[in-house]
Amino acid sequence: MLVFKLNQEKDHMDYAYDMDIIVRPEAEVPGLNREFGYYMGIGIPLFSIGGGYLRSSIYQILINFHARRGYYIAETPIISSSSLFELSGHLGFYKQNMYLFQVENRGYAIKPMNCPFHLMIFLNELGKYRSRLPLPFKIFELGRVHRLEPSGSVYGLLRARSFTQDDAHIITPGENAVDVVKEVFDEMLTLYSKVFGLEVSSGSVRLRLSFSERDKIGEEFMGDNKEWEMAEGFLERAANEIKERYGISYTKAVGEAAFYGPKIDVLMKIGEKEWQLGTIQFDFNLARKFKIYDLIREVFGGIDVYIIHRALLGSIERFLGVYLESFRGRLPFSIAPLQFAVLAIKAGDESDKKVEDVAKHLHEELINLGFRSAYRETSRTSISGDVRLIESRVKPPVIIYVGKREVEKGKLTASIYKGGKRVQKLYDPKDVEALPEELEKEVLEVSGTVPRIPGDLSHLI
Ligand code: ZN
Repeated sequence: MLVFKLNQEKDHMDYAYDMDIIVRPEAEVPGLNREFGYYMGIGIPLFSIGGGYLRSSIYQILINFHARRGYYIAETPIISSSSLFELSGHLGFYKQNMYLFQVENRGYAIKPMNCPFHLMIFLNELGKYRSRLPLPFKIFELGRVHRLEPSGSVYGLLRARSFTQDDAHIITPGENAVDVVKEVFDEMLTLYSKVFGLEVSSGSVRLRLSFSERDKIGEEFMGDNKEWEMAEGFLERAANEIKERYGISYTKAVGEAAFYGPKIDVLMKIGEKEWQLGTIQFDFNLARKFKIYDLIREVFGGIDVYIIHRALLGSIERFLGVYLESFRGRLPFSIAPLQFAVLAIKAGDESDKKVEDVAKHLHEELINLGFRSAYRETSRTSISGDVRLIESRVKPPVIIYVGKREVEKGKLTASIYKGGKRVQKLYDPKDVEALPEELEKEVLEVSGTVPRIPGDLSHLI
């Protein structure tokens, strides 16, 4: 039977594959007669070379972005004793989603969430430094988690069993809670717009406040009335101030809160679809289980503290999937696997040697400067076909042409993708270092750094 692909549009996995970001799970491993997915397991994406650069670049940006905003940076283990998740309560209510195993008669868990580790770090700091520890305490991690999602619901990068959260936990006194929520929201908008170039406006972003149902507090919703009232009050006050400041509206979903606390989800329209990206969640469960209320009271006296979970992008994998699909594989310069394609255009005469030298030198210099570049030789007759192929696959933000004309003038032609189209400009080769300045300005502004992870990716084009 013939199976017709009804939708001829590429999906995020097609783009990710073309850009060498990911290994296709359904592709056969050369020589092994089995698919990659067979060896990797269901829902466990294997990132390829381009994906490695992309992820590392995003990490650098996000780590600096958060560190500049007062978050401490954590990196916690993937595996721990299952006792940790017994303490957090996950073994009780989340067991069916966890990878658990026994070694030397002891139970271990692969972490489905980063929170218990962050709280362990917080308890250690609080025990050691007592009231010197500043509150609110904010701790950030690009935390790789594994969750046993039903195999039928797993789909590419959008819903994987192995993914990386841009995860932070904030332990805040009640009096700072509204400001903390507003700050997190500002961080979200800044990240979306400045690093990823997303349009942030009252038309594209809305908030959903998931609250408890009053008469189910204590049963379906854990904790007491006062806690819920306070936390929901903080969220609503913050949402009102956000509405005033940005014109971004919110809706309330009563009874939709998690059992452990109320939350705000950020919904964003990208292209035609609306996606849930960031989330800010209060949690009364963990604070109790980890005895944080007691210790805080002992150290700081009778203050109320709240634990907030928050993620700005959600998961790196899912965000990437959404982004690739929405922008047809066009990634911001700072994180693009391949940033430059340098094309030597040969004319078939004595100028070829010089063209080749200049282009190769440029390619090497870009790598020395910390960029990822690919070099390719082409001719006047095949160049348009070559560029079409490069544009349909790896999509480097900058294509540099070096031909006879350029060499004679001592210039190069750079074709820069920005704002949905390519703009061509003549440059002096010695200005090549300054060429991405415009493309990286905003990333530099908000994270204080631009990633420099060099690589020769000539084999991709
Ligand atoms: Zn958490």
